[in-house]
Amino acid sequence: MICSACFAQDGKKAKYIFLFVGDGMGIAHVTLTEAYLADKAGKTGSEYLSFSKFPYTGFVTTYSASHFTTCSSASGTAFSTGYKTKNHMLGIAPDSITKLKSVSYKLKEKGFKIGVSSNVAVNHATPAAFYANNISRTAYYEIGLQLWQSGFDFFGGGSFMQDKGKAKDMQSLEEITGNNGYAVTRGVKEINDISANVSKVVAFFNENDEIQNLSYSINRKQGEAKLSDILEAEIKFLKAREDRGFFIMAEGGIIDWCAHDNDAAGTVKEVIDLSEAVQVAVDFYNEHPDETLIIVTADHETGGITLARTGGGKQGFASLDGQAASVGVLDKENGRAICDSINNAAGVGFSTKGHTGIVVPLYAIGAGAELFTGKFDNTDIPRKIMKAAGFEF
Ligand SMILES: [Zn+2]
Repeated sequence: MICSACFAQDGKKAKYIFLFVGDGMGIAHVTLTEAYLADKAGKTGSEYLSFSKFPYTGFVTTYSASHFTTCSSASGTAFSTGYKTKNHMLGIAPDSITKLKSVSYKLKEKGFKIGVSSNVAVNHATPAAFYANNISRTAYYEIGLQLWQSGFDFFGGGSFMQDKGKAKDMQSLEEITGNNGYAVTRGVKEINDISANVSKVVAFFNENDEIQNLSYSINRKQGEAKLSDILEAEIKFLKAREDRGFFIMAEGGIIDWCAHDNDAAGTVKEVIDLSEAVQVAVDFYNEHPDETLIIVTADHETGGITLARTGGGKQGFASLDGQAASVGVLDKENGRAICDSINNAAGVGFSTKGHTGIVVPLYAIGAGAELFTGKFDNTDIPRKIMKAAGFEF
């Protein structure tokens, strides 16, 4: 049903909706990346990312039903279903029984094509929050089985975690998905060359099945896929098959991992990757400005990042370029020391190896973007998305 009272204020309904989630991306991660880009350009200050000058911004509270500091599955549940749950639960209410319905299913019922994507495994917490229900975010096999059952049109990212179950004695998730109406592709070329007859696809972009995520940006070799490659394929696939619109959720999942590692150089490179992926959506928006809504936010902050000047020195953000690889890949003996000294040289501090409960920023542009301003809760996000599209929640 179309709700006439629910239209976005300017009357334009969102037909093409992008929700980007920078996992763990707080305001300091964005500020640091902007300062790094400015420093590289020889300036002290701030260079905009693709999304940081969007006209509407908000602050989003992220606490879960069980903890002030949330995890990705509880937060993912909140901004996919509009209801809070306990940490580690996915698409299930705090009573451990009631299944919560994601906005992706609601939009599918309205005729939207649905895309769910990430640069980590397709059955990791944030993408899974848009199609699965499980009391545990780490039940990767059971979550993976729910992927094809969703009937969504496009999945893109790293291949299944625990493809054959924890004990590796189950039928392959990839095989089951392929037997249930999905084409499964590998790499950028295969998905972009896919036949027009294929209606549903799972596109894997990781280099091999040993590691179920795309390469960290800071470690990426020439020719390896990145999040913007997924976005390009995803938009192309869905646009060719939609007549009533599409909804894309895309996660930059490795920002969180680099911040957990207190690796400022790695974190900045991941935020840049997300920015490039958002730019692909901005290019689409520029072709369809009246019907496109782009939202960029985070599930929580990770690392408790601060940009603090200690002593009298200049903060040399560009010194982050001195780090050749992520801290986990650097020499085991002294990688931590190298990373810490580069963090110090850049003036980047971390207060935790975990998440924090601080509000996260949200940036929006396009049809209905004016709904996403001020301070609100992460459970408001799917409600505002439905309103922007002209539907009751
Ligand atoms: Zn995390």
